[in-house]
Amino acid sequence: MQRYRITLLPGDGIGPEIMAIAVEILEAIAAPFDLSFDFTTALMGGAAIDATGEPLPEVTLATCRNSDAVLLAAIGGPKWDTQPRHLRPETGLLGLRSGLELFANLRPAKILPQLLDASSLKPEVVSGVDIMVVRELTGGIYFGQPRGIFSSEAGEQRGVNTMVYSETEIDRIGRVAFEAARKRRQKLCSVDKANVLEVSQLWRDRITLLAQDYPDVELSHMYVDNAAMQLVRAPKQFDTIVTGNLLGDILSDAAAMLTGSIGMLPSASLGATGPGVFEPVHGSAPDIAGQDKANPLAMVLSAAMMLRYALGQSAAADQIEQAVLQVLEQGDRTPDIMSAGMHPLGCRGMGNALLKALSV
Ligand code: NAD
Repeated sequence: MQRYRITLLPGDGIGPEIMAIAVEILEAIAAPFDLSFDFTTALMGGAAIDATGEPLPEVTLATCRNSDAVLLAAIGGPKWDTQPRHLRPETGLLGLRSGLELFANLRPAKILPQLLDASSLKPEVVSGVDIMVVRELTGGIYFGQPRGIFSSEAGEQRGVNTMVYSETEIDRIGRVAFEAARKRRQKLCSVDKANVLEVSQLWRDRITLLAQDYPDVELSHMYVDNAAMQLVRAPKQFDTIVTGNLLGDILSDAAAMLTGSIGMLPSASLGATGPGVFEPVHGSAPDIAGQDKANPLAMVLSAAMMLRYALGQSAAADQIEQAVLQVLEQGDRTPDIMSAGMHPLGCRGMGNALLKALSV
């Protein structure tokens, strides 16, 4: 039997509701695949601020470091929005990313045939879309120095940020992306702005060099303005996309929205060593918290990503993803993905439907 230590960070808002479902699903999948999970729940975000005065207590980070993987639901809410920056739930999220050195963010955007109508684009444009965006998460313009708002001697203010990438940073995200492409349809598109930015020229040179180690992966390059256009014009041309922090922030949201339903999207953040963090793309949805209206599927699919990318249990991940497809196929819908003629279910009801789908 394979044993895994999993840290659970339910967080705020709908977080605890959707986390409860993911845990039940993992427990249900454990025995058939000869797995055993030791779950430890830890405080993060607003819940941690209320209980300890800080958004990421040291003990939470230590618990995460000491586990095989971390499942995070969502953090934040209006209650903490007016706090000083170091006491905001989001500061805990940044602390977790830097504390675990999570430099690679993997965001799949896959159109499920059952939810084709949820997209704002025409069905023939999005049908069959299956994209993985690999975004660099700890470098680039979000962290480069110098940064700040400076005053000249004449008293004029200038805002400054610096986009910087080292060879090492480019190579390590490049390798994650080539490996991800390898597990998919062996096509990688690197997105940059090399026609204007030197940092992008180095990015392009290094990714091109890396491609020699992955002859089975077909590499292409695209400028970001064209990539934005192609994502909404003909998204099916993409398989895996790799890009830097700022461009990835924008493109991954655009790619995600091709699917039209935020309650369905999982993500993974990985480091070179140590545990990865698996979490839905959406936030804590305070507007529906505690009302049994949340869609738990993004959370459940994040647990499936954890099984696949952190624990190497692809067959168990496949089974969970199949169960998700099956409940959608039989017409089960939470309010956010509801359409005419489907069966309305709450968060709990959707969890039960998944458990049933897993048991047959
Ligand atoms: P949000 O994603 O929480 O909600 C946006 C809309 O989508 C809301 O109408 C919400 O009800 C709906 N929604 C989101 N997830 C859903 C789900 N699983 N099922 C059904 N409906 C769902 O974004 P927001 O309203 O901008 O932010 C709310 C809070 O979440 C803020 O405090 C924000 O800072 C935080 N946030 C956290 C994360 C994170 O934990 N990684 C990410 C984004 C936002």
